[in-house]
Amino acid sequence: VSIDPIYLESIKHIIIGSIINIQDITEKVKLEHMRSDFVANVSHELKTPLTSISGFVETLRLNENIDVQTRNRFLSIIETESDRLKRLIDDILLLSFIENNEKIVYEGVSLYNVFLEVYEMTNYIAKSKNINLTYEFDDKSIVVFANRDYIKQVFLNLIDNAIKYTPENQGKTVKVSVGTKQDKIIIKVKDEGIGIPKEDINRIFERFYRVDKARSKEVGGTGLGLAIIKHIVKSLGGTIEVKSELRHGSEFIVNIPEKISFK
Ligand code: ADP
Repeated sequence: VSIDPIYLESIKHIIIGSIINIQDITEKVKLEHMRSDFVANVSHELKTPLTSISGFVETLRLNENIDVQTRNRFLSIIETESDRLKRLIDDILLLSFIENNEKIVYEGVSLYNVFLEVYEMTNYIAKSKNINLTYEFDDKSIVVFANRDYIKQVFLNLIDNAIKYTPENQGKTVKVSVGTKQDKIIIKVKDEGIGIPKEDINRIFERFYRVDKARSKEVGGTGLGLAIIKHIVKSLGGTIEVKSELRHGSEFIVNIPEKISFK
């Protein structure tokens, strides 16, 4: 049987067109699923501290004769949970702000200056836990064309995590190093902490994913820190990777292309 090649060609186009359409729809459905999963997660994460706050407020209101010690304990739980709620809301807003790429101001940012600000904020926490926070800058004059707050957030979240997931009072070290290699700026944050299990390593950048939810909560985590960094780094055209050994420590490595920077 001979088929007209023009007829064959048009059938080919119809089939390819349909496949592309199906791929489009699949992508849209996937995005829609991700969005509704996120909304469900957000609602759950916000509800947990709120339920606790309203529960303790109610208990205090119904028990006028509660002893001072118990009363103070309840008040301090309410305070902790309110702080947690605030951190969650701040992180959710920041994440959506970054994702929507809203009115970001780009400027020449000195990596060293931004780092020093973060160092001051985090070093006293490290000290209080007997963790040494050290740093090494190959070149203190590196200037990146980026958003200052975003660069600060990358340093802050990585160093904060390194301290949070390192056992206290064992004289462990968190080391930050910044340098350039070929056409890239490389930021490394290395700790001697609890490490990350192999099976979780690919998931830690997902929103609200925590290896150990109880521990993350205990140390004040929102589960959004790494998702925020991932988005910032992506918006700078860079990458982030992690190397980790369970119970020995982790190293987060951020690469930012130097083409967006000048010296
Ligand atoms: P969190 O607010 O819970 O710290 P993140 O998004 O910053 O959320 O990190 C996600 C999870 O990745 C954490 O809950 C923790 O299990 C793991 N993690 C992140 N950084 C480290 C680290 N330096 N050492 C060990 N585990 C880490």
